[in-house]
Amino acid sequence: MFIILRGAAAGYEAEHTARLFFPGADRADTFPDSGDAVAALAGEVTHMVLLRLNDTVVWRTAPAPEGDGEYALCTLLYELLCRQTGITPPWGMMTGVRPVRIIHDLRAAGIPESGIAAHFLEHFRCTPQKFQLARGIADLQRPVLEGADPMDCSVYAGIPFCPSRCSYCSFVSRTVGDKATQALVQPYVDKLCQELTAIRRTVDRCGLRVRTLYIGGGTPTSLSAAQLTQLMGHIADIFDLSALDEYTVEAGRPDCTDAEKLHILKQYGATRISINPQTFSDAVLANIGRRHTAQDIADCFAAARQEGHRNINMDLIAGLPGDTVEGFTRSLQTAISLDPENITVHTLTLKRASDLVVEHRAAAYDDVAAMLEQCGALYAAGYRPYYLYRQKGTLQNLENIGWAKPGTECLYNIYIMEEVHTILSAGAGGSTKLVVPGARRGKIQRIFNFKYPNEYIGRFEEILARKKGVEEFYETSAQTSGQL
Ligand code: SF4
Repeated sequence: MFIILRGAAAGYEAEHTARLFFPGADRADTFPDSGDAVAALAGEVTHMVLLRLNDTVVWRTAPAPEGDGEYALCTLLYELLCRQTGITPPWGMMTGVRPVRIIHDLRAAGIPESGIAAHFLEHFRCTPQKFQLARGIADLQRPVLEGADPMDCSVYAGIPFCPSRCSYCSFVSRTVGDKATQALVQPYVDKLCQELTAIRRTVDRCGLRVRTLYIGGGTPTSLSAAQLTQLMGHIADIFDLSALDEYTVEAGRPDCTDAEKLHILKQYGATRISINPQTFSDAVLANIGRRHTAQDIADCFAAARQEGHRNINMDLIAGLPGDTVEGFTRSLQTAISLDPENITVHTLTLKRASDLVVEHRAAAYDDVAAMLEQCGALYAAGYRPYYLYRQKGTLQNLENIGWAKPGTECLYNIYIMEEVHTILSAGAGGSTKLVVPGARRGKIQRIFNFKYPNEYIGRFEEILARKKGVEEFYETSAQTSGQL
């Protein structure tokens, strides 16, 4: 499938409207002589959309409007693709990945609730169920956002190593089992500690307050017990853990998380951990390249409770290879029966496995949508959805949702998703997001670390030099706002 766009109104939104139906399609400059293709052509007088699918060609035209030509073109394209594929995406024409933020922004702009409902239901053509979901999450997040201080920040440390590679993984993560990677781990931890020290100094110089800490990955518990002690001990030395609202460590996978490491996490102050089954089916675990069983996950969870962890998240993924609606339902019920404080349900992002939504529809999409519908059981078990995001490349932009028992919501997830305050990131692939103090929806500036561990280690001084941009950012913000 190819996407062809012509004219000023045929830009990003038109492309992503087409990708709601054909997520793996390629862009092309000209309409190909054969094969599947979708085109959106915005002339000065006329708009035209065209689909060639399985050698059948259909098209629609409409007069180019005076006003919002982009929206008119996308609507024309969306209607054609709904009709021809037989699919109506539940989030409608919305292509953005943060629906909840739209509600926050409309409320901040003084739009009444009826206007917000119209924006979702009529402008975007969302289903009422998806709108209610997003609105409920926005309501729940409201006090967290209203309590945000302009000089708050969070700190993230990334561990780009895992015990083995999952088949669906798109992260930069290296398998600790191989010798070349093993040799990188200790120098990586040493540099990470140095970078965190530099971040601590920056926090002080800028007058920031660290609200949450998050060690993610990769799989942080793929470090040895000694390396984990080094990292978490260093963090405990340089940050005031008693002043934090939350300290999360992703324990991730049971094939590298034992009682000793769970003890270290507790001993050095983690207040929330994540043990991520993805599925409780041994067959599906094998399909995705995991070298552990569902029983190992349950044992790891029990060991975490034994070590005193009282806020545990479990990730599940809907749509894994070989899974079924019944299988996913069993995984969900197993997770609920373990009674973790948080359950996060992701939708598998379909990469370039197939371009054609019509093929997926029979093979995967209907199943994935049915899996997500099972999540209603989480309400009955006392969980509430508290954050939501979508990913480009997920069929019809279906969602990922964090569910939490009341009072156990992960603040870091809300902060990063809603871009409430600055996130200072350490480690390979880290992306520091600088949020303008005092601006509810100001411009975000980013400072990137090198992506791969060997680059991170070898060019570490360059990273420290880049990070000077954090202080410059706050100096400039102080000068322009006069607030600091
Ligand atoms: S545990 Fe996560 S980061 Fe590691 S390989 Fe699997 S999906 Fe990727």
